[in-house]
Amino acid sequence: MTTVTSAVWDDGGSPGYQDLDSEAGALDDLVVGGGLAGLTTALLLARAGRRVAVVEARWIGGGTTGHSTAKVSLLQGTKLSRMRRHHSRGLVQAYVEGNLEGQQWLLRFCDDHGVPVQRRPAVTYAASQAQIRVARSELEAADEAGLPVSWRESFDVPFRHHGGVVLEDQAQVDPVQVLRALTEQVREHGGLVHEGVRVTDVAWDGRTVTLDDGLEIVADNVVLATGSPILDRGLYFAKLEAQRSYVVVMDGAQPPHEMFLSAGSPGRSVREVPQGRSSLLMVGGSGHATGRTDSEREHLDDLRAWTRAHFPGAVETHAWSAQDYSPPDGVPFVGPLPLGRGRVYVATGFDKWGLTNAVAAARSISTEILGGAPPSWQKPMRHRITGPRTAAELARINAAVGIQACRGLAGVLSRPRCTHLGGVLERNDAEGTWDCPLHGSRFDADGSVIEGPATRPLSL
Ligand SMILES: Cc1cc2nc3c(=O)[nH]c(=O)nc-3n(C[C@H](O)[C@H](O)[C@H](O)COP(=O)(O)OP(=O)(O)OC[C@H]3O[C@@H](n4cnc5c(N)ncnc54)[C@H](O)[C@@H]3O)c2cc1C
Repeated sequence: MTTVTSAVWDDGGSPGYQDLDSEAGALDDLVVGGGLAGLTTALLLARAGRRVAVVEARWIGGGTTGHSTAKVSLLQGTKLSRMRRHHSRGLVQAYVEGNLEGQQWLLRFCDDHGVPVQRRPAVTYAASQAQIRVARSELEAADEAGLPVSWRESFDVPFRHHGGVVLEDQAQVDPVQVLRALTEQVREHGGLVHEGVRVTDVAWDGRTVTLDDGLEIVADNVVLATGSPILDRGLYFAKLEAQRSYVVVMDGAQPPHEMFLSAGSPGRSVREVPQGRSSLLMVGGSGHATGRTDSEREHLDDLRAWTRAHFPGAVETHAWSAQDYSPPDGVPFVGPLPLGRGRVYVATGFDKWGLTNAVAAARSISTEILGGAPPSWQKPMRHRITGPRTAAELARINAAVGIQACRGLAGVLSRPRCTHLGGVLERNDAEGTWDCPLHGSRFDADGSVIEGPATRPLSL
């Protein structure tokens, strides 16, 4: 078995919303991107009586949210201890507070709109002796941030472990069901949703938005909820690392009750997927920086092999790959875009923990657009100082980009170049796509943009 199939939540059968046309008139707010960040922002604005539209380049669920493992958890692998190396206790507490608000909002929304939620303990487990120290650091950081975590020595699972941190009463969802319910609510509150059209530019006035079908839209505010921001103002592409990872779903295995994530590399994320009266096993991991591996297929096969070894007899039903963007200090970038005239907002850098962070970002941005002050937890994150560790991580990210750029220049002239900054593209052998090793833009075999900061197709 070699290639990807589709996500278990796949909703390629989206109705194909086409609410926008040249008659749509002026908008209060245009949200670019129909993932969790964009749709939640749009709903909060529409509920406040604003005239809002969401423009989605692919389809609702076609981005990272629709390919997520969708754990809605405040215990996020080793996230808090990694952030603590860069920042004060107060900033980590602010991050947890924002995520708690995001989590509570999302679970309440699911409850109110009939989206099933399974409450589960979250576990960060030590997969080896060496990971015990890392998992124990997470226990300390989570405890310091006020989370009611505990240590457990052993779990009823077939894979090797050396204890782990447990946070009870977290949650898991089907992310496409969440997006579908959000879309319905946006439209019910008078919002417009338009799929299959890509925004290619926002003018320097911060109001005039160009779409790839030639249409121009004017809005008082523009929210870029596109994963990696599509405008280079703010240079976010140089502050984020695109991280691709893999997910397999298998039938015929007994999934654990808890949601597991290993405390180190290779990442192993395990959860159950309810299917009627039975359930499937989901395993994610084996990640790498986008476009920077000899073979994507080997990463996927590694995950398959691990799953089959620990759950013998399991039969694969789905396999896919997706990416998210990691900031150097683990703290998302949320708020007004530099040089955006205070009208353009950005929400990115969720570091594979967007189910809570995207909602927190949406709450913060919508409050600001509605004239309120950003929530108190947002302030320390937005005004964080770049310390020496963060500067070193930024240098590492950009040195890696430099090395990839030089490799490209020295290499194959026959390969296509990224329409973002001209990086030589790598062929992804698991998906048949062209992936940029510089900033994570990806293109389909026909040259069309899939994701990343690029907005223009390849001319193949
Ligand atoms: C494998 C994997 C597993 C994960 N598991 C978890 C998890 O268990 N828990 C968790 O909390 N987080 C998880 N995450 C992270 C989480 O899924 C993301 O952080 C979150 O979904 C990002 O939401 P978003 O709205 O910012 O982006 P997206 O969902 O990607 O939405 C952005 C949308 O913008 C659209 N777009 C882009 N450019 C344009 C343009 N120019 N014009 C119009 N539209 C555009 C895209 O097509 C896309 O639909 C995981 C991530 C990955 C990769």
